[in-house]
Amino acid sequence: MLKRLALGCVMLAAALTSSAQDYPSRTITVIVPFAAGGPTDTVARLVAQSMGKALGQVMIVENAGGAGGTIGVEKVAKGAKPDGYTLLLMHIGISTAPSLYRNLRFDPQKDLEPIGLITDVPMTFITRKDFPAKDMKELITYVKANKDKVTYANAGVGAASHLCGMLFMTAIQTDLTTVPYKGTGPAMTDLIGGQVDFMCDQTTNTTPQIKGGKVKGMAVTTKTHVKSLNELPTVEEAGLKGFEVAVWHGMWAPAGTPKPVIDKLSAALKTALKDPAVVSKFAELGTEPVAENRATPEAARAHLKAEIEKWAPIIKKAGVYAD
Ligand code: ASP
Repeated sequence: MLKRLALGCVMLAAALTSSAQDYPSRTITVIVPFAAGGPTDTVARLVAQSMGKALGQVMIVENAGGAGGTIGVEKVAKGAKPDGYTLLLMHIGISTAPSLYRNLRFDPQKDLEPIGLITDVPMTFITRKDFPAKDMKELITYVKANKDKVTYANAGVGAASHLCGMLFMTAIQTDLTTVPYKGTGPAMTDLIGGQVDFMCDQTTNTTPQIKGGKVKGMAVTTKTHVKSLNELPTVEEAGLKGFEVAVWHGMWAPAGTPKPVIDKLSAALKTALKDPAVVSKFAELGTEPVAENRATPEAARAHLKAEIEKWAPIIKKAGVYAD
């Protein structure tokens, strides 16, 4: 009996090793927990296309938006096979969700295996084209004076646009009406259409719309100016001391994915982040790939832990919760 069990284990281990050696032998799906056409989708499509080339397989993106990204993360963390064929591309929201949600059904540190970090994307405050304020200073004054009628769009509790809005409301000590979407892709459509007043969203989504004059760019959320949007001041320059948020992104596989598979994915990620096509498109969209030593499982694991610890007290203080 024992002998047979041992043989079974050896066979299973051999099967896993050989499938890890052959990996990847078919299409890989990358889940993006937000709507198509938004900032995370844009980053994912650029990276997936290049990683696919490096791996010799097609990498497709599947959008699973809703609940600030937690639905899509849960899909990978709890519902996907740990075989390397279903991956997750998510951002800072994976570190804020454990503090924001009372009943989160996954633990990002236990249920996911990190592959590497990808990019830190600046955010921008933008308004509908005909919004009365002409710059960030005026926006702050106007929003405070008209708090009952101004609407702030976001991608749900746990999204980067939610986090930025929460920090903004705390900084100006004013509560605003928020309008949640499944991603800032659809939120942008409504902002351009004038159905909502303003939002804080990543440059990977806002740059073309600011440059095309479809929305008004007000300020960037980083400490320094963003090269591709150099005309915009920082939020801090507009008067909100210490205001800073950048949206780090990473890639994960379900926990239990074999190490050789993770290593192949991490190597492909590093290659993609050096791909001139990715680098130049990132630059056009106001961002850049992380340094090579951050595109690793170890760096992503340590960063996630640090970020969970960083945001927990800030969110607690803001008193924002969802179920
Ligand atoms: N990253 C989200 C999206 O792609 C938006 C957000 O997090 O605010 O729609």
